Formats: sequence, structure tokens, C-alpha cells
Amino acid sequence: MKTNRWIIVGGGTAGWIAASALAHQYRNQAVSITLVESSEIGTVGVGEAVIPPFITFIRNLGLDEQQFIAAVGGTFKLGIEFKNWRRQHHSYFHHFGDLGRPLNGNDFYHCFLHAGRAGDCGDLMDYAPSAVMARQHRFFLPFKLAPDSGLNGANYALHFDASRVAAELRRFACDAGVKRVDAKVERVLTDDAGTIQTLQLSTGEQLDGDYFIDCSGFRSLLLGQTLNIPYDDWSDLLPCNSAAAVQSEHTGDTPPYTTASAQDAGWIWRIPLQHRMGNGYVFSNDYISDDEACASLLAQLTGKPLHDPRILRFTTGMRQQLWAKNCIALGLAGGFLEPLESTAIHLVTRGVQFLLQLLPTVATTETQCQALAAEYNQRMRADYEEIRDFLVLHYCLTERDDSPFWRYVRDMPLPASLKHRLALFDASGQLPPENDELFRKPSWQAVLHGMGRRPAHYHPAVDQLDAAQVNQALNAARQQMANACQQLPTHNEFIQQFCATP
Ligand code: FAD
Repeated sequence: MKTNRWIIVGGGTAGWIAASALAHQYRNQAVSITLVESSEIGTVGVGEAVIPPFITFIRNLGLDEQQFIAAVGGTFKLGIEFKNWRRQHHSYFHHFGDLGRPLNGNDFYHCFLHAGRAGDCGDLMDYAPSAVMARQHRFFLPFKLAPDSGLNGANYALHFDASRVAAELRRFACDAGVKRVDAKVERVLTDDAGTIQTLQLSTGEQLDGDYFIDCSGFRSLLLGQTLNIPYDDWSDLLPCNSAAAVQSEHTGDTPPYTTASAQDAGWIWRIPLQHRMGNGYVFSNDYISDDEACASLLAQLTGKPLHDPRILRFTTGMRQQLWAKNCIALGLAGGFLEPLESTAIHLVTRGVQFLLQLLPTVATTETQCQALAAEYNQRMRADYEEIRDFLVLHYCLTERDDSPFWRYVRDMPLPASLKHRLALFDASGQLPPENDELFRKPSWQAVLHGMGRRPAHYHPAVDQLDAAQVNQALNAARQQMANACQQLPTHNEFIQQFCATP
């Protein structure tokens, strides 16, 4: 039997995620997996916050979670605090995990609105265990929480040092048999049908392969430059096209969440790691210059900068196909939607997951490969579009009127899918059914509610519940959670005890 030959171009986060997942899938089988990366070109070097499915990815590889967190300088992330998005001096939280519990089979959000008619029942986030922990800067692994704490529905992700993650996954992949080549790909050779055959490297070496994974970053060397797959540009919906990124000293307490603070022409991220803070101003250079963005970023740092800010450029959108011929693009080579909800690395692991489900081999015919590619492209496009709509939601509901950037995003035409979702919510508080969607109802509810949107009516079935009784039950539940949370270690204490970088 012929051996499958996989070639991965690029050794950033995407390349090493692909290499480790493929190596794990093929353990004990005769395949050859080669990863080419160029230390001369380097990696994008940002991408330091993820969402909960990344934890599953790490576990599925068989890696020890706490050792991994220690190795990558990681901290825990229970959600994102959005400051000044709805209006200046307003903030809201998008949590991970559950948001309340259904009452008599009724969606919690509808019960919350109903209970509000009978008196104060606090903030929506008082009912999201992750948000309750985040507010108090406390952390404990949800599956180890006492069943009666009310906090079990919490979920979490990570903040980490991207270069250390690539190094950890590289070690894992190389131990599992992946061959690493440090060289520049200088030419990509295809056959007459456009199928990629061979990479010519700067070392003079030639690499022949059956399947090629393009993880070459924004260059998109194989899918974009070689196969000429066009790019769907979504800048009219997500107009930010630049970022100024800088690392700074981190002192004091470590919040278990990312902060996204809206600015005149975009927003600033703050990502706390064990050994430093990651910061960046994501902006549109139609509305602010690079120098102004850097100055604004530096002025808002909480610790000393560790280097000068670095400017990155991008165009939000995706390639029309992410799998074409025998080439699959992962990471920035396939598209980028801006880092507002930290979804880019998730899209890499999602792409890998679908690839491993569809897994072509050397015996797959061209027609069969086309069928697999069509399925893959459909699934990935659905994910990209869902995430695009969710990101647009953060902008389009703003009440801000204080800069041309905010006026643009407030008034921009919306995609039909998002318009439908908003109309449905406005009319009834309902959201479309979840079909393998990344952002479940509680996420949409958190952002819609946080941005001040309220439905005209909640579901009429909820009226059968006595509002005063529901109000009482809700207030008791949030008090119980807040009290239980006070018994937990602080986030800093938890890290020191279980996963401090040696
Ligand atoms: P890169 O890191 O650019 O790697 C490309 C690789 O290809 C490198 O190894 C390079 O050497 C190699 N290469 C290129 N050309 C050649 C060649 N000719 N020959 C050989 N090798 C070559 N994602 C998140 O999930 N969370 C975040 O918080 C987040 N924040 C972000 C903030 C910004 C401003 C940006 C721009 C992105 C952010 N991302 C985030 C996205 C995240 O950084 C990327 O998805 C992730 O790092 C994967 O990048 P990559 O591996 O595709 O590309």
C-alpha cells in the first residue's frame, strides 16, 4: 500500500495544530507528515486568547492540561469584558458556559425578563457562573465544584503565549514522528490540472506530497498565490484592517478574562498572561493613523511596554474555498475575521476536526476528493458566516455617535442572516435553533442584552409562572452563587497552586 504524504507549509499556531492533530490521528500508521517553516520569515506572533473548545483539543491530544498551561504561561479566561461598546462608561460581560437554568422548561432569559416585572433581580450576568467568578477574580475547575454551589455551569478557556504554544505543539508533533524542515518554499509546482505536486525549497530540496495544508499565514502561498482562490472581502461589515500590538509588564492581580475596550476607531484588547500582558489596538486606518493608534495604545498600558508597538495589516473575510484540489488552508491562509471574540485559532481546530472526519487518503480519487472538499467548504463557510454575524452584532447595536467609525458601524447594512436573527429576537426574544453552532443562545443573549437590545415580548408561556415567585427564586439563586464563589481561591492563587510556570 502507498504511504500518504502530508505536507504542511507554515509553523505558526495553525501549522503546529495541524501537525499535532494529524500525527495523533495517524499514530502507529505508516504516513509521512512533513512541516516546512521558515525561521527567516517568522510567525504573526499574536493570537493569545482562545475559547473553550481549545481545551478539548488539548485534552484530545492526550496532553496534561495543567502542565500545558504552565508551559505556555497560561491564565484562565472565563469570558470577555466589553467596555464602552454600547456607550461610553458602560460595560458588559460575555461569559462562557451556562446562563441560568430553565424554569418549568422555559428558557432562562425569558424567565429573567418576566421576573424583572416583579422587582429588581439583578444583572443578567449574576446568573452566569463564569461571569460571577470573573467579577470576583476567582477560579476553580468547574467539574470540581460542589454540586450545590450553583457554579457548575461555568466554562473556561485560556490566555497563553503564542510562541510557547507553537513550541509545545511542535515538541508533541515531532515526538509523534512529524518531520520539520526549516526552509523557505520558493516554488510550488502543479500538474496540468492544477493539483499541487511538489514544493521547491530554498535549501535545494524538493518535497513531493499527496495533500498539502497551507498554513503560510496571510501570504496564503498555496491556496491564494498558487491556486488563485479568490478572497471574499467582508470589510464593509468588519471595517477594522490593522492592529498595533505590544507586550507590557504585568504586575498585580490577574483578571480571569480578556478586556476589549472600545476606542474612537476600533478597540483595545488586554490579555493577561502569567509573565506579561498582551495588548493591541485593532483599528481601521480609514479613521485613525498608525501613529495615533500606537500613541493611544501606549497611553492606556497598565505596565511598562516591553518593545515598540508592531503594526499588522489584514483584510477581514475568507477565501471562497478553503479546500481546493489537494490543498486545505488553515489559519490566516484561509481567512481572518478580526480577534474580537478570539475565534481564529478555534477555526483552525475546527478545520482540523472536519479534515480528520473527511480524511482523504492516497487512494481517494479526484472525484471523491471533490465531494469531500465540497462538504468541508460548506461546513467551514457556515462557521465563518456565523462568527462574522456574531462579531458584527457587537458593533451594529452601538448607541455611540461620537466618532465617524462608530457612526459607520451603527448604520452599515447588515447581512440578511443577522437581520433575520435580530428581527426574530426583537419580536419574541427567540433565536434560531442551534445547529452545531459555536455561539449558543447564552452568548447571543449576553451580547444582545449587554448592548441594550430588548425583545418586544418574552415567550407567552412564561406568563403562567408567578412573576413574584420567579423573582424570589432568582434572587435566592444569584445570592447562593455569589456566596459560593467567595469560598473559591482567587485566580492568582489557583494558578500558583496548580499551573504556575516554573
Ligand atoms: P502565522 O503565524 O503567520 O504563520 C505562518 C507560517 O508560515 C510561519 O511559520 C512562516 O514562517 C511560514 N511561511 C510563510 N511563507 C513561507 C514560505 N514561503 N516558506 C516557508 N514557510 C513560510 N486568534 C485567536 O484565536 N485569538 C486571538 O486573540 C487572536 N488575536 C489576533 C490578533 C491579531 C492582530 C491578528 C492579526 C490575529 C489574531 N489571531 C487571534 C489570529 C491568530 O494569530 C492566528 O490565527 C494564528 O496565530 C495562526 O496563524 P497562522 O499559523 O495561520 O500564521
